[in-house]
Amino acid sequence: MSQTGCLRICLLNLSGLQKKMDKIYYTKPSITELEIRYAADAAVNGWGEKCYDYIYRFENLFKKHLDVKYAIATSSCTGALHMGLAALGIDAGDEVILADTNWIASAAPITYLGAKPVFVDVLPDTWCIDPQKAEVAITPKTKAIIAVHLYGNLCEMDALLDIGHRHSIPIIEDAAEAIGSIYHGKRAGSMGVFGTFSFHGTKTLTTGEGGMFVTNDDAIYEKVLTFSNHGRSRSQTKQFWPDMIGFKYKMSNIQAAIGCGQMERIDDLIAGKRRIFAYYAEHFRNLPLKMNPEPVGMTNGYWMPTIVVDEGMPFNRENLLTAFKADNIDGRVFFWPLSMLSMFEAKPENFVGYGLYERAINLPTYHDLCGMFWDSKVMC
Ligand SMILES: *Cc1c(COP(=O)(O)O)cnc(C)c1O
Repeated sequence: MSQTGCLRICLLNLSGLQKKMDKIYYTKPSITELEIRYAADAAVNGWGEKCYDYIYRFENLFKKHLDVKYAIATSSCTGALHMGLAALGIDAGDEVILADTNWIASAAPITYLGAKPVFVDVLPDTWCIDPQKAEVAITPKTKAIIAVHLYGNLCEMDALLDIGHRHSIPIIEDAAEAIGSIYHGKRAGSMGVFGTFSFHGTKTLTTGEGGMFVTNDDAIYEKVLTFSNHGRSRSQTKQFWPDMIGFKYKMSNIQAAIGCGQMERIDDLIAGKRRIFAYYAEHFRNLPLKMNPEPVGMTNGYWMPTIVVDEGMPFNRENLLTAFKADNIDGRVFFWPLSMLSMFEAKPENFVGYGLYERAINLPTYHDLCGMFWDSKVMC
């Protein structure tokens, strides 16, 4: 049997156990009585004077978890990024550097401000931005670098922060996929000038839709707080008197109530992701592929267990995904380089990213998945 034939059996074996069960989704939230109770309470009682109670509570729980000074709940990570970039004064004609291999939500807010995303290549082992490539791409127009911790894998923050320091360019963290990831004792999202998170239904912690903006910087916090309140500053005493044009990216109290329940279970939610990853890693250890790395000194939140088949191995991701589909299993393609999209300039020189996606897929991962296939016999 070829090595890739072997790989296919490992994955498809999930379906043996699955036949009488529902579809295996690539992610599914973990919602318990706790979240249901809080959401119901918010729906029944969380109005009038109490209309922000769960929001403040959620922000405080998140702040404490991340060990940051400030947190502002938002309707999405995209909105959090948009406000943060605006708070840095990013404007038409400016440039913001980020990895080519990414989801478009990390790049789109740059374009909302009329600025240009500059896509640089990723590292072959972490699939995150290559700091050297980022430094080479700096021009007088560069106003920020966004470090996106892809699939839970951590960017090389020391190198990026050093580049930022030397060139006086802020480093932003898009930590939407990195809840549970820790870089030498610091949680993802807590190291840059600001960090952003997503609580979309596919993320480790969910509120349905939602996000969080975090920072330790007093001035940036004040700016984003004002932006997030339709431009009304905290110090403004006149009612309905915006001091500037702001944004409307707020989270509702009902969503925040679900978030509070999820925060009380955060260690369990992260442990679930790590448990599922460990299962895959254990069963794939003899296969010619790499998975999400966890270098010394770091903890990976493993939002998405991902396989990248070694170069030169016969592997066709479309065939594998088709086979999954036939067995009612969701698979997800690895992110395409954004520069392949028609809206952006092609950058085939980002050869690491252009060489990764065809050899890679994300595997299903959600809380109750483990119980489902933990006992399955892998025929590899
Ligand atoms: C999910 C995700 C986003 C978008 O989050 P929304 O809450 O849907 O706006 C942004 N960046 C990354 C890295 C993501 O994974």
